Amino acid sequence: MKRRDLLKNMSAIPVFGAFAGSAKLLPLTDGSAQAAAGAKDYFKELGIRTFINAAGTYTFMTGSLMRDEVMSAINYASKEYVLLDELQDKVGQRIAKLLRCEYATVTSGAAAAMTLGAAGVLTGMDEKKVAQLPFLEGSGMKTEVIMQKAHDIAYAHALKNVGLKVIYIETKEELEKTISDKTALMYFLNANNFDGKIQVEEYLRIAQAHGIPTMIDCAADVPPVENLFKYTAMGYDLVCFSGGKGIRGPQSAGLLLGRKKYIEAGRLSAPPRGNTIGRGLKVNKEEILGMLVALETYLGTDHDKEWKMWEAQIKLISDAVKSVSGVETKVVVPPVANHIPTLHISWDPKKIPATAAEVREKLRSGNPSIEVADGANQHTFNVTTWMLVPGQEKIVATQLKKVLTEKALSEAHG
Ligand SMILES: *Cc1c(COP(=O)(O)O)cnc(C)c1O
Repeated sequence: MKRRDLLKNMSAIPVFGAFAGSAKLLPLTDGSAQAAAGAKDYFKELGIRTFINAAGTYTFMTGSLMRDEVMSAINYASKEYVLLDELQDKVGQRIAKLLRCEYATVTSGAAAAMTLGAAGVLTGMDEKKVAQLPFLEGSGMKTEVIMQKAHDIAYAHALKNVGLKVIYIETKEELEKTISDKTALMYFLNANNFDGKIQVEEYLRIAQAHGIPTMIDCAADVPPVENLFKYTAMGYDLVCFSGGKGIRGPQSAGLLLGRKKYIEAGRLSAPPRGNTIGRGLKVNKEEILGMLVALETYLGTDHDKEWKMWEAQIKLISDAVKSVSGVETKVVVPPVANHIPTLHISWDPKKIPATAAEVREKLRSGNPSIEVADGANQHTFNVTTWMLVPGQEKIVATQLKKVLTEKALSEAHG
C-alpha cells in the first residue's frame, strides 16, 4: 500500500465512520471506501431495522438496491467537479441515443419528470414565463391538463405543482368536447391503461388530431425493457420513468424522454437555475451519472435469464407455503406496471385463523425481518422476488412457511 493511496482512501471514508474506533480501515484496496464503510453497521447503530424486500419497488421501503456498477459511477463522480448543465446535456444526449428518442434528461424521479415536462410545455423557452410558474392566470400560458378519471392517482399532483388545473373526462366524446384553447397537456397513466375507456394509442391519436402535447407516466413500467422505447416511438411527446424502480438506479432519479423542444424548455425550470418551480428537484452529479450507468447496465441485462430466475424463486416460495395445510397460491403477472411474476398467497381462515396484518407483523419482527406486499383482502398478501438479493428467496420460503405453520398451530392449541 502506497502512502498516496492510503491518504486518498482515507479521504474517501465518510466522516460519520472515519474516527469511530470500530470502523475497520482495512483492506484499503480498490473500492476501499465501501469496504471500510461496510465494516460499520450504520443502520444498526442508528437503531434502524433493515429487511428482506419480498414486496417490490415501494418508495416507503426505499425502492430498490443499486448495482455495484452504479455505486462505482457514483463514487467516481463524487471526486470531480463538472458543470451541471454540461453533464445534463451530455448524459441526456447519451440516454436519447441509447433509447432511440429525440431527447432526454435525468430528473429527481418520475414525479419530477412530470413537473418539469409540464413546465416545459407551458413556458417554452420564455424565461419570464419560467419565473411566473405556478401562477398561470394572466400569464398567457395555457391552464388545463386533461386526464381520464380512472387515471387520477396521487402522483398526478406533480402536474398541479406547475399551476395546472386537472380536467377529468371519461369518454371519447367528453374528451373531444373538453379540449380547448386552454388545454396545455393531455396526461396518460400507463399503469391504468385497461381501467380507462380510452386506451394508450387512441388517446394519443386524439391529442395529435387536436395538436395537444401528450405525456405518459410509465414510472413503474419496466420490465419489459421494450417499454423504454415503445412510447416515444408511438408518438408520446413526454415519457416519464422512475430511475429507482425496475432500472435500479438512484431512488431520487428518473427519466424524462421525448421531444427536445419540451425537455429543453423543462430544463429551464430545473437546477442550477434558481427562480424556478423546479429548484427543489435537484439531482446531483453522482446520481445523474449513476442513472446513466444504471440504464446502461439494465439494457445490458439478460432479461430472459432474469425472468426465469424470478419464476424459479417464486416457485420455490410457492411450493414451501403450499405445503402448509389451508394455504393456496397463484402466480399473477400484472399487465402493465410492476410486470413481474407476483405470488398471491392466501389461506383458509378456518385452518389458519390469522389476518394478513398479523402474519406480516410476525414476518416483520422475525430475524431476518421480511416485508411482503398488500393483498386483495385480509387473508392474503403478495410476494415478488425481483428486489431480492439472489439467495434470499430461500430465507423467504423458510420464514413464510414457518410463520404460516405457527399461525395454523396456534389454532389447534388454542
Ligand atoms: C412510483 C410512481 C411515480 C413516482 O415516481 P418517483 O420516481 O418516485 O418520483 C409516479 N407515477 C407512478 C405511476 C408511479 O408508480
